[in-house]
Amino acid sequence: MDLLRFYKNCRLCPRNCGVNRVDGGEKARMGFCGETDQLRVAYVGPHFGEEPPITGKNGSGTVFFTGCSLRCSFCQNYQISHQDVGENVSMEELIHELKNMILHNHVHNINFVTPDHFFPHVFILVSLLRENGFDLPIIYNLSGYESVEILKTAEDYVDIYLPDFKYSDTSIAAKLSKCPDYPEVALEALAEMIRQKGFLDVCSTGDTFAKKGVLVRHLILPGKVENSIAVLTTLFVEFGSGLPLSLMSQYYPFIAHKDQNLNRFVSEEEFDLVYSHARDLGFEHLLVQFPEEDLLRKPGISPFLPDFTKAQPFE
Ligand code: SF4
Repeated sequence: MDLLRFYKNCRLCPRNCGVNRVDGGEKARMGFCGETDQLRVAYVGPHFGEEPPITGKNGSGTVFFTGCSLRCSFCQNYQISHQDVGENVSMEELIHELKNMILHNHVHNINFVTPDHFFPHVFILVSLLRENGFDLPIIYNLSGYESVEILKTAEDYVDIYLPDFKYSDTSIAAKLSKCPDYPEVALEALAEMIRQKGFLDVCSTGDTFAKKGVLVRHLILPGKVENSIAVLTTLFVEFGSGLPLSLMSQYYPFIAHKDQNLNRFVSEEEFDLVYSHARDLGFEHLLVQFPEEDLLRKPGISPFLPDFTKAQPFE
């Protein structure tokens, strides 16, 4: 299959821009993500901030791509989703870096972060890795706003999906991510991912490191507790209490928002309301990130606000 043809009339995500990203120049950047077919990357390296079955002892081998098809106004990776931070890389350079990470850092998996707008390149990279005998689990770390059609193509090139389910409220989705159809689209996408890979395997095998399956993530936003509660109820109704769920409280306010709630951290009361609801629903595989101590909420100290202009963004 000529995978690079997907860039010619780009419908790699539900934005369905239909732009030709191949021809270079400004027109090729007119899709919502603003990316051409030139692969751009902000960071390649072991990362220790994922959930324990993903991070393991040696870290998850992350690749952070420049650009994003969702571009949430509160994005914690704002530099790469909104501010263009990143460098052009060739496939040869990237495969070299991936091999390096596998052989020298002994990472447990390869974790492509927000790869959707570069899926064709990612699929080819995965094929190359496998042809070279590297059979580590391949992870797609996604916003949840995915095209089911493209996910069907992705099925052969992925082992683990880590999708967000951000919104159940269409008006919040419209305001913060310019996609009022997020709840409906993301739910269909999650169903397709689960159909392909099932729930994250460690939940049933008891193994330490994940090799296959789906783990859904939800970031609690300050002032949006009703949205979070409805997210959990929707996930429970659609997929049952066996769905592995990661509840995150790491929201970090770092740019000014008109919505004053978004200019603060999630309070303990807000977190407790959402966490209690998850427990009341009876989710059996709940990974929970509790609100951090005040010290970790200081600029330059928080591990949750990477600086991609530095060689080591997460230090
Ligand atoms: S990947 Fe980019 S250009 Fe393609 S449909 Fe999505 S936002 Fe549009």
